Amino acid sequence: MTSSYQATAAWAQAADDADLLRSFRDEFLIPPHEGHDSAYFCGNSLGLQPRAVRAALAAELDDWAELGVEGHFKGRLPWMDYHEFVRDHLAEVVGAQATEVVAMNTLGVNLHLMMVSFYRPTAERPAILMEAGAFPTDRYALESQVRFHGYDPADALIELEADEPNGTLSMAAIERALAEHGSRIALVLLPGVQYRTGQAFDLKAITALAHKHGCSVGFDLAHAVGNLPLALHDSGADFAIWCSYKYLNSGPGAVGGAFVHGRHARAALPRFAGWWGHDKTTRFRMGPEFVPTPGADGWQLSNPPILALAPLRVSLEIFHRAGMTRLRTKSLQLTGYLEWLVNTQLADVLEVVTPTDPARRGAQLSIRVLGGRERGRSLFEHLMANGVIGDWREPDVIRISPAPLYNRHTDCLTFAQTVRKWAG
Ligand SMILES: *Cc1c(COP(=O)(O)O)cnc(C)c1O
Repeated sequence: MTSSYQATAAWAQAADDADLLRSFRDEFLIPPHEGHDSAYFCGNSLGLQPRAVRAALAAELDDWAELGVEGHFKGRLPWMDYHEFVRDHLAEVVGAQATEVVAMNTLGVNLHLMMVSFYRPTAERPAILMEAGAFPTDRYALESQVRFHGYDPADALIELEADEPNGTLSMAAIERALAEHGSRIALVLLPGVQYRTGQAFDLKAITALAHKHGCSVGFDLAHAVGNLPLALHDSGADFAIWCSYKYLNSGPGAVGGAFVHGRHARAALPRFAGWWGHDKTTRFRMGPEFVPTPGADGWQLSNPPILALAPLRVSLEIFHRAGMTRLRTKSLQLTGYLEWLVNTQLADVLEVVTPTDPARRGAQLSIRVLGGRERGRSLFEHLMANGVIGDWREPDVIRISPAPLYNRHTDCLTFAQTVRKWAG
């Protein structure tokens, strides 16, 4: 398809007409700009609202109004089991078995809960391997866990420096770090997709390598979930965590998720426990002794927030119908078009930072504005003022993420034309 890309409205429109997933866009509310749909490229930060969310929320409010506490058992979707109504589709999106996933809490909370179980430092093996320049929460969480266990982050937090020209990280660099420090590393924690560069990592290869050195492995999938097809079970990773308000379109502050590999389902791992993680069959005996539910459910603390899970349920049902494989096919085409536009029409203004190999990226392109920060800010503000919504990363990068559920080729062309108008 690449060679046939054209920078005309007619071509973009024809490509949109031929898109088998085009009707999914109608299921979303696209923020308007001066009477038209904006070109919304910020699904990597906050995904758009599915139209069906409003009715799903209203249904829960109605059940609450009409049934009170009985809603736990007699609601249309009884609240008692509500987190289970998202389980199958969530497992599908991340490529896991149903009992390996749970929707709960938020990303940062889940990262800490998982580390309680999977970061078990010893004097011989105290360290965590992470990336330099990680998203702040990851850095803060890991550093605070190291300190909590009585170790010194200067020694026990090993941060991998990017070794490729645009700030991306090669597999060889990960291999070198493990060869050098592997015997001291308790946990390897890396992203599925790096938030700044858009680089996608090979979870299976990283896991195999880290396990060979005796390390546990976890992934932060904030920018990967709903973006790329994942195969968490097959990757062999010990755990993963994610949020659901980015590509998963489940609303600001949505309920996050966690994956715990099936081989740990019944393991007697240390954990921070709560009543919702207790074996479901005996939970309401209210006994003093904690018996975890086998699988990821055993890490739950609290009864789930129904009003926050309702949008996730709606959204995952859309992913189920669209299918991650079909979404990826469209995503490759759309992001490929955006990249082609930048490289062929805007090379005097912009430069793509994200890896050019489609296997090493998802939907997002991180695009550097040539000429420095002030010029970059000026272009970014021009885009926003003209209804082209991306986001800014210091010092000179604009992130543009065409989401295959609701973005079109036409949106990518609008981006290019809006940049051109500014640059002259
Ligand atoms: C978005 C994002 C977060 C956000 O964490 P919350 O706990 O949901 O606020 C954390 N880590 C990464 C890598 C992210 O991209």
